[in-house]
Amino acid sequence: MLDGQVALVTGGSRGIGAAIARRLAAEGADVAITYHRAAERANAVVAEIKAAGARGLAIPAEATDAAALTQAVELTVSTLGRLDILVNNAGIAPYGPLEDVTLADVDRTLAIHTRASFVLAQAAARHLTEGGRIVNIGSSLAERVTSPGWTLYSTSKSALIGLTKGLARDLGPRGITANLVHPGSTDTEMNPADGPDAAAERAHTALDRYCDPDDIAATVAHLAGPGARNITGTSITVDAGTTA
Ligand code: NDP
Repeated sequence: MLDGQVALVTGGSRGIGAAIARRLAAEGADVAITYHRAAERANAVVAEIKAAGARGLAIPAEATDAAALTQAVELTVSTLGRLDILVNNAGIAPYGPLEDVTLADVDRTLAIHTRASFVLAQAAARHLTEGGRIVNIGSSLAERVTSPGWTLYSTSKSALIGLTKGLARDLGPRGITANLVHPGSTDTEMNPADGPDAAAERAHTALDRYCDPDDIAATVAHLAGPGARNITGTSITVDAGTTA
């Protein structure tokens, strides 16, 4: 379904980003991924992409470094020939008492989640053509904060709602869509389904279960595909009912 297309997925070395990269490759896209430190794991994901018959590329790009992000877009285009799909997924999970949050925490979190997504969308927009897709990865905590300690995280993720809507308007005239996927509790190293907070998080869901990274990847793949050509500027929540 995505044959001949090229995707760039940030934070593709593990977790949700790796699942998205694998899924887009399985649908026929060539996929570049970025990572922060996990070069070996990024290369392993690229090996899986290649095993699926697609071309793959791993690019180190610290999300606070705007120049590195722009270079990642340019390297994707120069190596894989074009860019059709951008997935802004790389993220961190700052958590703790409000009074302990430092200005450095605020700046770093907003840089990784909000500024990086803006910079990448702007850089990608120079290359995307009719049918292009931008998918941002938010969080169900942008819609409903279920417990204390998440103010900074939810601030940075809810900003993506405005980014997504603005992009939909800016790029709609060119036939490019922009959407936001809000995962709920998803079983990754960031939030293991057997971690210390897992029982409480599961209790907030309607379905009494965590999401799997593949659940998020399936929705991203739909938004990247032709069936979603008239979905833009909106948010889709994949959270087993946490926000229900
Ligand atoms: P993981 O911690 O499993 O993976 C994070 C990914 O982001 C890795 O590829 C990591 O690279 C990359 N990354 C982290 N920091 C940076 C940085 N400074 N610069 C560049 N890349 C970076 O997280 P998840 O897969 O769980 O999360 C993916 C996205 O989904 C995030 O945006 C997160 O906020 C969101 N999300 C996750 C939920 C969950 O329950 N898991 C719930 C709601 C939203 P490296 O491997 O090199 O460190």
